[in-house]
Amino acid sequence: MLPFKLVYSDDYLLPLGSHVFPSEKYKRVHDRLLATLVADDADFACPSPATDQDVLLVHTPRYVGKLKTGTLSALEELQLEVPYSRELVRAFWVNAGGSMLAADYALNDGVAISIGGGFHHAFPDHGEGFCMINDVAIAIRRLQRDERIRTAMTVDCDVHQGNGTAVIFAPAPAYRPPSALASNGSADLAARFDPDVFTISLHQENNYPLFKPPSSLDMNLPDGMGDAEYLACLGDAIGLGLSKFKPELICYIAGADPYCEDQLGGLALTIEGLKERDALMFRIAKAEGIPVMVTLAGGYAQNLKDTITIHANTVVAAKEVFAGK
Ligand SMILES: [Zn+2]
Repeated sequence: MLPFKLVYSDDYLLPLGSHVFPSEKYKRVHDRLLATLVADDADFACPSPATDQDVLLVHTPRYVGKLKTGTLSALEELQLEVPYSRELVRAFWVNAGGSMLAADYALNDGVAISIGGGFHHAFPDHGEGFCMINDVAIAIRRLQRDERIRTAMTVDCDVHQGNGTAVIFAPAPAYRPPSALASNGSADLAARFDPDVFTISLHQENNYPLFKPPSSLDMNLPDGMGDAEYLACLGDAIGLGLSKFKPELICYIAGADPYCEDQLGGLALTIEGLKERDALMFRIAKAEGIPVMVTLAGGYAQNLKDTITIHANTVVAAKEVFAGK
């Protein structure tokens, strides 16, 4: 039995029809973990869907209303890049519930992994790039609202920049008109410059999204970067982030798409390098005593089996680090 929980539901499946996003990967990863005896049934916890109130902690009432009533504009649906359906809305709500449950388990056990989630291209008022709602942001805001945590850090290793996450957690002053800043006392102003969520994104610079709103720390990586350089960059990024900010929770977005054979990525990590990436994240979190929750995010390998292996290896890496095996 694992010393931490895996969070999974068959209802994570996004009903997309024929699509470059292989949503069946969630069940395939679940089944692979059981078949290879990495995990057994008792290691899995099944989430409930997030409530609309949870989703509204991050997303605008107008956008949530459109999703619930099926009234997105044609342009909004196009930007989402997945075919709208009520069933798809529910699947995203279940993924958000899974990230919330994984965050909750991580605070108790030091680490937890959702075999889903990581929809980092979702903004407060719209979705894009296959991402309808930002499950990781919802999980963080819910824990903050419940006063379980005050601070969190996102470490986004998907090959695409976490634009939605960057905007959701952008420091408030960037969005305040100068007059409002001037009318506040200096102590108030200082408090607003103290962000409660530090966002790190490691991504390929020449890739989607074209416009990359600033994270707290962005690592813009060149095309074709391989294992050794990538691992050095990740170590530097996390080290720099933790030197500036002490989070009570790390949300690790373990995208499988920095893989050398990914159809939507242009980095050149190997399957072994990606596992070492995960292990590095876990070793740092363990050494610092910071709980870490994990979501899977993207993965579009030419051979789906490789995507399944990369995601399953994230669980293997956590097992090796946290069980000491
Ligand atoms: Zn991606």
